[in-house]
Amino acid sequence: MQSVVQPLRVLSLGAGVQSSTVAMMMKHGEIEKADAMIFADTGAEPAAVYRWLVWLVAEIGSIVPFYKVQYLSGLTKHLEGSCRGESSARTPPMFTINPDGSRGMLNRTCTDRFKIRPIEKKIRSLLVKGQRCVSIRGISCDEMQRARPSSSKWMDVEYPLINLGMTRQDCKSWMLRHGYPLPPRSACVYCPYRCNVEWQKMRDLAPDDWAEACRMDELMRHNLKGIRGVCYVHSQRVPLREAKIEDDTMNHLPGAEGWGDECEGMCGV
Ligand code: SF4
Repeated sequence: MQSVVQPLRVLSLGAGVQSSTVAMMMKHGEIEKADAMIFADTGAEPAAVYRWLVWLVAEIGSIVPFYKVQYLSGLTKHLEGSCRGESSARTPPMFTINPDGSRGMLNRTCTDRFKIRPIEKKIRSLLVKGQRCVSIRGISCDEMQRARPSSSKWMDVEYPLINLGMTRQDCKSWMLRHGYPLPPRSACVYCPYRCNVEWQKMRDLAPDDWAEACRMDELMRHNLKGIRGVCYVHSQRVPLREAKIEDDTMNHLPGAEGWGDECEGMCGV
């Protein structure tokens, strides 16, 4: 009789609220266990995320094998190299003022190169001949618009939080109810998709992350290879240190509709 190879179940671990909750729910048997969890490291996450990963892997790494992957030396090193003229930039979605004075945004090309592709490469290395993959993603009900069908022939996608009707807030409640600390928000420290509240929190509670975000904001202003506009991480299109981030209204993010609280797909969740 021909043997049927079970699909490889892989959790895309952004190490933010949702994917961390999925991992812990696997530990509790409330979500079917994955065969692997993979974190794509841009090298630009907040310090709290790297600390959180250590905790999370200690909690569940013996149950679900953990892999960290990175494209080249990570996004920060890539952007620094691009600013030295070494290669065209794979860019975060920076806000720009174009040479003709109009306002725009750069295409977000960082996620594909620094998140999606390294994870898919690792998955392929884990598959045996004829095996399919189920990619498990921590997207919650309140960010339903980010749940898309698979575009790969060899991969199916599963959204357990949506199947369970859980929101991001439900994830936090689940963690607290089980006596666990709350996961941090994951996203590169200089990712432009942040509301003012998030910028304030970073400035006031994580000064090293804030200093790094300001450094990268300044570095990328005029220097990214292949980019003609003037680039900013804040939508006000002023240096981050000078942006007015005191009010609690959402940073206006034209073109960012549908990102939810964290950035899309493999980023952040
Ligand atoms: S968090 Fe932002 S800057 Fe980092 S890879 Fe994702 S979209 Fe790009």
